[in-house]
This record gives sequence, structure tokens and C-alpha cells, in this order.
Amino acid sequence: MAGKSKQSQAWRGGFSVTGKGTFRLARHDPSATPGVKSRKAAEHDLERITRKLVALQGVLYAEGRHAVLIVLQAMDTGGKDGTIRHVFGPLNPQGVAVTGFKVPTPDELAHDYLWRVHRDVPPKGTIRIFNRSHYEDVLVARVHGLAPMREIDRRYEQINAFERYLTQNGVTILKFFLNIGKAEQKRRLEARLTRSDKQWKFNPGDLAERRRWGAYMRAYEKAISACGTPWAPWHVIPADCKWYRNYAVARIVLETLQGMKLRYPAPKPGMEKVKVE
Ligand code: ATP
Ligand code: MG
Repeated sequence: MAGKSKQSQAWRGGFSVTGKGTFRLARHDPSATPGVKSRKAAEHDLERITRKLVALQGVLYAEGRHAVLIVLQAMDTGGKDGTIRHVFGPLNPQGVAVTGFKVPTPDELAHDYLWRVHRDVPPKGTIRIFNRSHYEDVLVARVHGLAPMREIDRRYEQINAFERYLTQNGVTILKFFLNIGKAEQKRRLEARLTRSDKQWKFNPGDLAERRRWGAYMRAYEKAISACGTPWAPWHVIPADCKWYRNYAVARIVLETLQGMKLRYPAPKPGMEKVKVE
């Protein structure tokens, strides 16, 4: 058992960024599939993992002491939607919700950038998935110069303080960067041009962002280096293979929930004497 958990730690260590050592995106191969025998085995494991996730979600809800916040970031076509469907789809919808962060509305822009984020932090007992997040304020904001650079530079520390505050107040945070390669993005964008079931997803704006690939990679590298912390680690998930991406995210979420030592609440005093007539 100890050997297995060591193996698991080593596997996860290959992806997680917690602020120790320098982080280089170039060292992370988007097409890698470490730690699995085959696609079939990983898909089989995913089913087993999601069954366990469903069970643990029930305990999380019953106990009502912890909240779980999952942050998903990726380039366009990176697979945020697919990950949500495959990994979190099987959960009880009463205890899980998704917030998608789009271009801020005028009302949102009139507030500090963390306002809309804090509003959607999950209540205890539940899981919330952020489809994009406050990281856009150091990613797209940096690439497009949406705020003065010195203001953006201050945000990394502000985000770390915010996430630390949340974790100290019962929120477990897991951040995932679904790392696709530029060639894989090309394939996926082309599919959106030609396949009738995908054409609705085509957005010409994605091509303009693709031209800024290098700037985005630098912005991701900076955000992941500066905000990969022991209390809210980043995980850089190889995401060219969709099945591997789903497996890896699910496994990391499961292992995190298992590490939280969730327990059903103790029975109310005197319950053993109660009779149902
Ligand atoms: P899909 O897979 O459906 O394309 P998506 O997450 O790309 O999902 P879109 O509506 O296409 O959704 O894009 C949302 C856009 O909002 C992204 O281009 C993102 O960069 C932008 N956005 C999100 N947050 C901010 C922000 N704080 N400032 C500026 N732009 C933002
Ligand atoms: Mg999009």
C-alpha cells in the first residue's frame, strides 16, 4: 500500500507545480501519457475513479465542512468542456456547479477583478468548477495589455493571498492547465471548420488568439510559476490525448478528496433509542 501511494505521489509530482524549483512549460510534453498501460486501461480506470468520486462527493456533502474549487484553464479547444463532461458529469448535480468566466460585463469591470470570482466560490459541502477563472486577469489581460503592466504584475501576489485566504477558510483548491500543443490545436480548429457537429463552436476570434500562441505560453508560464503554491497547486496536464487528460484530472481530484479524510457526521445523540412508528 505504501509503495502504491509513493508511486502515486511520484506520478502526480510529474504534473504539479507548487513553487519549488523553476517551472518551464517546455519540459511538459502535451502528448505524454505517463503512468498508464493503454487507452483502454485508462478508460476503464476512469470509470472506477468516477464511481469513487461520486461516493466521496456524497460524504463531502453530508459532512458539510469543506468546499472544493477546481480551476480549469486552457487555450481555445484545450478541452475544458470535455473534461467537465467526462470527469464531473457523473456527479450528483445537487452538489456540483460550473461557472464560466467570459469577457467581464460592465458591472463586473466596475468592480475589482476578484469580485466576480469570490461571488462564485463554492459553499461548504459542494464542488465548483471554474471554466476559466481569475487567471484570465493575468493571461488574456497580459497578452492584450488590458490593464497597465504594473497593475498586472501586482496580481500574482494578490491571487496567492486570495487563494490562501480561501484555503484557510475551508476551500480546497486544485488548478489545472490543460496543455495542448500548437499542432493539436490546429487539428481541433480545422475540425470545427469542417465537421457539422462542431461548426457551431467555430469562433473566428480563436484564430487571432492562436496567432499570439507564444505570448500566451509566456503568460501561462509566468502565472503557473508565480501562483503554483503548496496551498493551491497548479497541475500541468498533457491534454493532446483526451482520454489521458480525463484520466489524469479525475485521478488527481480523487486522490485529493481521499486525502481530505472526509467522514459522515456522527449520529445525533440518542438516535440509537429512536423508534420509527
Ligand atoms: P468555448 O470552448 O465555448 O469556446 P471559452 O471559454 O473559450 O469556451 P468563449 O466565450 O469563447 O468561451 O470565450 C470567453 C472569452 O472570455 C475568452 O476569450 C477569454 O479570454 C475571455 N475572458 C475571460 N475572462 C476575461 C477577463 N477577465 N478579461 C478579459 N477577457 C476575459
Ligand atoms: Mg472560445
